[in-house]
Amino acid sequence: MVKYDIIVVGVGPAGLGFAGHILNKNVLVIDRKDELGLPIKSSAATFTETLIDFELGDAVRHSSNGFRIILDNGFTKEFHYEKPVLHSLDFPRMIQILYERAKKNCEIIHPASVEHVNTKDGTIESIETEDNIFKADLFIDASGEARILLKHLDPPYYQKQWLAHGLEYEVTGLGLNTDYFDFFFGNNIIPEGYSWVFPTGNTTARIGLGKLVPGKGGQKKVNLKDALHDFISSDIISVNNFHENNIMETHGGVMTYYKPLKNPSFNNCFVIGDASSQSSCLLGEGIRFSLKSARELAIALNSHDMETARIYYQDYISNMTRHFNNCMLFLHFYKLAPDWGIHALIKALADYDDTNMLRILRSEFKGTDFSRLLYTVPKNLI
Ligand SMILES: Cc1cc2nc3c(=O)[nH]c(=O)nc-3n(C[C@H](O)[C@H](O)[C@H](O)COP(=O)(O)OP(=O)(O)OC[C@H]3O[C@@H](n4cnc5c(N)ncnc54)[C@H](O)[C@@H]3O)c2cc1C
Repeated sequence: MVKYDIIVVGVGPAGLGFAGHILNKNVLVIDRKDELGLPIKSSAATFTETLIDFELGDAVRHSSNGFRIILDNGFTKEFHYEKPVLHSLDFPRMIQILYERAKKNCEIIHPASVEHVNTKDGTIESIETEDNIFKADLFIDASGEARILLKHLDPPYYQKQWLAHGLEYEVTGLGLNTDYFDFFFGNNIIPEGYSWVFPTGNTTARIGLGKLVPGKGGQKKVNLKDALHDFISSDIISVNNFHENNIMETHGGVMTYYKPLKNPSFNNCFVIGDASSQSSCLLGEGIRFSLKSARELAIALNSHDMETARIYYQDYISNMTRHFNNCMLFLHFYKLAPDWGIHALIKALADYDDTNMLRILRSEFKGTDFSRLLYTVPKNLI
């Protein structure tokens, strides 16, 4: 049996982000993966803010000065900025950068899958991998959608999770009509979801789609692979020369976006990143929020005892909950009336900073008077 001050489960952006910021503690980080960062599940598109805030410039594959919102009726809204705003990252490279930073502070073991979690009265006593039993004063669940610790501590939340299922191809040899990041919305493309074309070079792009599945199964069942092929062969998409044998990689997985965990700590366990639903259903963005939640907790633990850190982290999560609730609100309206929901989204995206985006959404959707929304949104829109 090995004992640490802190054990982190998960070597994704959240786990590594935490490990890179925690100081003066005996920390173990473990992951079930053989090769860290692989297989890739994420499109890894992010805003400039993430690169600056987390010094991830070296992981950038491609940058663009703008993006477009394209609806299934062909309507297109273009957003251009003087400087690059959106970037496609090399996901394994990003993990490598974060890993190099983390290993200065922590021990990292992989592959090591947590198979058993031993709890007593809501406190984690130990975790077990195939070969070992580990004890710690504090455990961090950074295991993404697996939520391997959380599911023992808060089963109702775990069961309530809402998931987005995504699939994308990284394709080479394309004729790209634009350098912008394209986001597509509309039920004719994919019901309860969205699709995208993110350039990763002059002739390469990630082309994918995500299906938001509220509750069990969502309203409409969709075969993601079929939907992706339909999307790629549709007129609406902005690429030429797609051939199946030009698919270099297939990425995919689950994104968690149910309301963030209200109380993200349970006695001696804190939950960060996707495991606590720190991701936005608006744009499928999760890397930035995972890194932020991880850093917030590490900084709180560096300067305070566990109970004070709990208050700080709780406060951070409460603020983020307000932020994500607006995403849920958008989703709600999008479901009720996709066209109006999309209009509001377009308007909100007019400023790419999503803090502003959410502020606008909140003001659009204030109160419950849906007819007022229908009346006001189009007037001051496009
Ligand atoms: C299709 C798709 C597209 C996306 N596109 C974007 C995008 O363009 N931009 C963006 O910002 N975000 C995107 N995201 C979301 C983003 O990838 C996630 O928010 C982010 O990876 C979450 O980081 P995390 O560290 O919390 O979890 P994860 O990245 O999921 O890492 C969790 C780690 O825990 C490990 N683990 C799980 N269970 C165990 C266990 N039992 N024992 C040991 N280890 C375990 C896993 O192996 C994994 O390495 C996308 C997600 C999907 C699915």
